Amino acid sequence: MARYTGAVCRQCRREKLKLFLKGDRCYSDKCSFERRSFAPGQHGQARLRKVSDYALQLREKQKVKRIYGMLEGQFHRYFIEAERRRGVTGENLLQLLELRLDNAVYRLGFASSRSQARHLVRHNHFLLNGHRANIPSMQVNVGDVVTLREKSHKVEVIKESLSAMARRGVPTWLNLNQDNFTGTVKNAPNREELTMPIQEQLIVELYSK
Ligand code: SF4
Repeated sequence: MARYTGAVCRQCRREKLKLFLKGDRCYSDKCSFERRSFAPGQHGQARLRKVSDYALQLREKQKVKRIYGMLEGQFHRYFIEAERRRGVTGENLLQLLELRLDNAVYRLGFASSRSQARHLVRHNHFLLNGHRANIPSMQVNVGDVVTLREKSHKVEVIKESLSAMARRGVPTWLNLNQDNFTGTVKNAPNREELTMPIQEQLIVELYSK
């Protein structure tokens, strides 16, 4: 699946929000956003103009795409699926994104960023319900168990990531058992459990035009 491979800190600056795309660096004083919290490029510090509704909706969509590391086509397919399902489309969309295997691995603390989680999943470091799972976009379901394979217990980046978990914490819809390197999906995340500053309604409005 194609993905963005350019400079990621620019994306935080463009969205005027820390998107936490670079693992530990995001929590350190090396974070570019902490030092230059204005948009990148020649006109990044220009006086702000009045922002149209369309621009607001577009920025919100770009922000969420960037958080989850997606390009337009893949993101739009998630939206179509969210729309097809019962319930509130915006919430369905966020739930589908959160229930990706790579996101679950990141949220459980096995990786310090979603891109690192995707890489680890692709390289066969995890089992899903005891079976090999190396497709980052796989959806996890309630009751599913994500296990770090035994051969991967000593992988340095995973150990470092787990040791930094106290700082990030595990979301309430997941349960991490650090002693046996497993995580369980307790429930599908509801809107209150998704604490990122996202206005998903703006994305729905954009795609509904
Ligand atoms: Fe964003 Fe992390 Fe880069 Fe800071 S270090 S600008 S939070 S990706």
